[in-house]
Amino acid sequence: ATPTAVMVATGVGASNGVLIKGGDALERAQKIKYVVFDKTGTLTQGKASVTTAKIFTEMGRGEFLTLVASAEAGSEHPLGKAILEYARHFHFFDDSFSSKKGGNLDMESKHPGWLLDVSDFSALPGEGVQCSIGGKQILVGNRKLLIENGIDIPPHVENFVVELEESAKTGILVAYDNILIGVLGVADPLKREASVVIEGLVRMGVNPVMVTGDNWRTARAVAKEVGIQDVRAEVMPAGKADVIRTFQKRGSVVAMVGDGINDSPALAAADVGMAIGAGTDIAIEAADFVLMRNNLEDVITAIDLSRKTFSRIR
Ligand code: ADP
Ligand code: MG
Repeated sequence: ATPTAVMVATGVGASNGVLIKGGDALERAQKIKYVVFDKTGTLTQGKASVTTAKIFTEMGRGEFLTLVASAEAGSEHPLGKAILEYARHFHFFDDSFSSKKGGNLDMESKHPGWLLDVSDFSALPGEGVQCSIGGKQILVGNRKLLIENGIDIPPHVENFVVELEESAKTGILVAYDNILIGVLGVADPLKREASVVIEGLVRMGVNPVMVTGDNWRTARAVAKEVGIQDVRAEVMPAGKADVIRTFQKRGSVVAMVGDGINDSPALAAADVGMAIGAGTDIAIEAADFVLMRNNLEDVITAIDLSRKTFSRIR
């Protein structure tokens, strides 16, 4: 293709909301054999919401939600934000609570008055959050986080988490003062176009793959819904780039589609990195293409554009 053809393609891309950062990536895109998708925020809407909160102790609902939301207040993770939102709504509609706190329940406020003071906060990527409230440790996250901290997960709790995961939800476990006190179920619906795009890619001879830090059971349920057979779950942030390299070692051209900080090493490692426009700046920086409309159909638009631009010279 002539430089002019590449310029024209870049313009066509831009008018479709596909920002192409270089002619080389555009050329590589015609040969893509695998498209590796991140799950949360890429295949799914990234708008997680809490669907269940189950408490396994005598603790009241308001107290439980306040504890968990306070622990997540410092988190940037969509799961953390979903929990805060849920607790905020609960308190907003809970009269006894709002009268106790003098009605100080500003729905917009980032740090509403009902949140508790937190110390020693740390976010553990791929696991959850950990901090201290009232001099006691609180852990909010997946099994790995609890097991690492020596928290026992009783069978009835494990069964409840499995039930959530089998229905494509993520189970978030909460331990306070070394005791498992509750579990939250979080759902994050698929993007509306996701399964059509997966079908389209397969028809084009491209293999879709899903990679996620989430647990195997939830990952399999989501993959089944969207029509992806090749799934890699419980992948820690650094591991996503390794997944890309595994396919490259077999001599294939690999694209990565992602939105998060934890996707940026994989976006950089891929032959063609595609960032979701609504994603984090670090992901956008690491990518070759930016899908400004946040619509997965543009993965196909990008490959099509490359094939059309470069096929004439083959
Ligand atoms: P993904 O690859 O799907 O974006 P992450 O690597 O960000 O997933 O997270 C993997 C898992 O770690 C989540 O599914 C969740 O179980 C747990 N986790 C991460 N951050 C948090 C948080 N702030 N609160 C609760 N759980 C979390
Ligand atoms: Mg993501």
